[in-house]
Amino acid sequence: MNEELQKRDEAIAEISARLGVRAERGRRFAELTSLRVGGSIDWVISPQTEAQAAGVVYELENAGIGWRALGSGSNVLADDGEHHYVVLALKDLKGEVRFEGELVHVSAGYSLPRLCVDVARQGLSGIEGLGGIPGTVGGALWMNAGAYGHEIGTVTESVRVARQGRVVETPGDTVQWNYRHTSFKEGELLLGATLRLTPDDAAAIMARMEDAKSRRLATQPHGGRSAGCFFKNPPAGSVGTGKMIDDMGMKGVRRGSALVSPVHANFIVTEGENARAEDALHLPRKFESA
Ligand SMILES: Cc1cc2nc3c(=O)[nH]c(=O)nc-3n(C[C@H](O)[C@H](O)[C@H](O)COP(=O)(O)OP(=O)(O)OC[C@H]3O[C@@H](n4cnc5c(N)ncnc54)[C@H](O)[C@@H]3O)c2cc1C
Repeated sequence: MNEELQKRDEAIAEISARLGVRAERGRRFAELTSLRVGGSIDWVISPQTEAQAAGVVYELENAGIGWRALGSGSNVLADDGEHHYVVLALKDLKGEVRFEGELVHVSAGYSLPRLCVDVARQGLSGIEGLGGIPGTVGGALWMNAGAYGHEIGTVTESVRVARQGRVVETPGDTVQWNYRHTSFKEGELLLGATLRLTPDDAAAIMARMEDAKSRRLATQPHGGRSAGCFFKNPPAGSVGTGKMIDDMGMKGVRRGSALVSPVHANFIVTEGENARAEDALHLPRKFESA
């Protein structure tokens, strides 16, 4: 093994042992993402608390070691090649949800669908439209996840981020919450958030959530392997991207292990044991010749 990589590996092993975080080798993106594609990862480190996660990225950065955050992997299309960096897996960073009147404090690794049920039971409204979105709270914050009239950014009072090894609280109104995009910067680790929700009847909130989930089930592939909508939609009022792809007759079109979902044309799904990211990435090129 090259000497530089060996030194890096020793540093990663030392940092994770000292901070008491689980560090694994030999994992693949294909095991960690909903599309079930993607190559080997040098290291996967799984912090369990916000302070631990802030400490890990600080130490990695001081040692010049590259890292990337991963929640549930439900919006990631990872390359088939080798990934020579640390994946900071956040699913174990879930802690307990804490309620304080209309405020809800939650860590980045907490499941978004589970949070939606927790707050609905508590009689708090504002995210019930998000109940069918797979993934973690951190992933949802990162890209301002939204569905059925709700977006997470709209109800975010503050976000906790990792800065210089510490957990720092940033007001939600200093973040730009755009359509599936935010002003968070590459290399910024989101540790958790405080949401401000609105009191309402628990049964009514649950009913709205179930309605959103059944509309999703009626129009989107479920149980399949996808990353949700592959392309963004044009501005409201225009024809949706799924309809445009459908109109081109592309539903069901395949490239190797990837195909345009026959259920919803804006979903690329993968199949088989050894599905390849390359197939999913190249499939849209077929649209050019349609
Ligand atoms: C069937 C299906 C339906 C979907 N429907 C919707 C929908 O209706 N609306 C919608 O908005 N999305 C939808 N998605 C996409 C996806 O579920 C959301 O984007 C979700 O919020 C991603 O969360 P995650 O934990 O899986 O993030 P990941 O996929 O793990 O990560 C996504 C990005 O966020 C970054 N990230 C994750 N956590 C952190 C963190 N703590 N700090 C910094 N960066 C972080 C990652 O580096 C990566 O760039 C759907 C996906 C699927 C599979």
